[in-house]
Amino acid sequence: MIAVLRWGHRIPRDSRITTHVALTARAFGADAIYVDAEDRALEETVNSVKDRFGGNFEIRTGINWKKLIREWKGIRVHLTMYGEHIDNALPEIPKENVLIIVGAEKVPKEFYELADFNVALGNQPHSEVAALAVFLDRLLDGKGLGREFHGGAVRIIPNPRGKTVEELE
Ligand code: SAM
Repeated sequence: MIAVLRWGHRIPRDSRITTHVALTARAFGADAIYVDAEDRALEETVNSVKDRFGGNFEIRTGINWKKLIREWKGIRVHLTMYGEHIDNALPEIPKENVLIIVGAEKVPKEFYELADFNVALGNQPHSEVAALAVFLDRLLDGKGLGREFHGGAVRIIPNPRGKTVEELE
């Protein structure tokens, strides 16, 4: 189980980027995303992508983040530009039951203590979407992008020169 906790989600300010965090989590190999603020519109958007393109990705919003972090049965990885460089941290991080925490605004100090690892995708500021994508790709050795998504209404057939979408229902 690989899950993402998105902390600090503000509606409507972060709606677009949190949607991108969720879709990136799904596409790059996570199983679920948990969002601190309740946001039904975000849940509907992500679930409609799942219905159309398949897979078992779960989204839950309105999460008690402290409880989730404290009770997580596995490893908690907080992505932060202040953390240990990914190249040094990655060999120590187990690849199963990982909760990946990404912020929206400045995260509270306690995240740095609650996390098992504070990991930087380079020690420069960029984006939670970029940080999550690169982290998942490294954690899963590139295999997250190779997963199949079953049960959707359509399937994309890779095409080097255009769009081919197969209707399955
Ligand atoms: N200014 C905020 C702070 O000081 O915590 C960070 C805001 S940043 C746009 C939002 C999130 O992107 C951060 O909480 C972190 O999860 C992620 N992020 C940005 N740059 C990162 C980096 N170089 N490595 C890891 N995560 C990063």
